[in-house]
Amino acid sequence: CGIIGYTGKKSVKDVLLNGLELLEYRGYDSAGIALSDPDGTKTEIYKCAGRVADLRKLCEGRKLTQTCGIGHTRWATHGGVCDANAHPHRVGKVTLVHNGIIENYEELAAEYGLLGKLRSQTDSEIAAGVFDHFYAGDPYDCIKKAVGKLKGTFAFVLMFADFPERIYSIRNVSPIVAAKTEDGAILASDVTAIGKYTGQYFVVPEYHVLTMTKDGITLTDLDGNKKEPEYLEIDFEL
Ligand code: GLU
Repeated sequence: CGIIGYTGKKSVKDVLLNGLELLEYRGYDSAGIALSDPDGTKTEIYKCAGRVADLRKLCEGRKLTQTCGIGHTRWATHGGVCDANAHPHRVGKVTLVHNGIIENYEELAAEYGLLGKLRSQTDSEIAAGVFDHFYAGDPYDCIKKAVGKLKGTFAFVLMFADFPERIYSIRNVSPIVAAKTEDGAILASDVTAIGKYTGQYFVVPEYHVLTMTKDGITLTDLDGNKKEPEYLEIDFEL
C-alpha cells in the first residue's frame, strides 16, 4: 500500500495519480484521493476498489483544479475490499489516509461513541473518528492527543477543513518521506514517488508532527519543539 500528499502550485490530481502509479509495486486492492479547496468549504473525495487506472476513470471529465490533496492505495487488513472501505476517510472536520493497523480499534469505537456512525468497516475510519473527537481548532493538539490513544502501526496523512491547503502527518513504524519542492511540499510512503519533484528528501521521524504548506515544511516533536529535517540526497535516475 502507498501514500502520497502534495500542496503547491500544480494540479494535485495529476501529482497524486502519477504518484500512486509509481507506488503500485507495493501491492494494493483499492485507491483514492481527497482534494482540498482553497477556501476550505469542501473536500472532494474520489475512491474505489480496484486499480489506479479505475480511479483515473472515476476522475475523468471532472474539473479538478485543486492544488492540495492526499492519495492512498489500500491493502485491506480490516474490512473487505469495497468502495466504502477505500481511503481517504472523512469524519467531521478530519480527512485522512492510513497505512498500517490500529490494534485497539474496537475499544476506541466504543470509548468515543463511534459505533453506528461509521461509513466503512475499517480500523482507519475509527482512527479518523478519534482525531475528530480531539479536534478543537488546533491540529497539532488534536494529533498529539489522538495518537496517545492509538495502539498499532500507522502512517497517517491528514487534512483539517479549517486549514485548507495544509497537510499534516504522523507515523509509527509505517514509513513516510517528505521534501520541500520549488513550489510547495510533498510526502509519500517512499522516495520513488517524489523523485520527480526534488533531489533531496528526509525520513519523517516516528511520533513527530509534519506540517506541509505551500511555503514549506515544519517538523515538531510531541513536546512542541521544532526539529530540523535531516535531508538525504536522492541518488537514483528516474
Ligand atoms: N488497516 C487499514 C485498512 O484496512 C489500512 C490498510 C493499509 O495499510 O493499506 O483499511
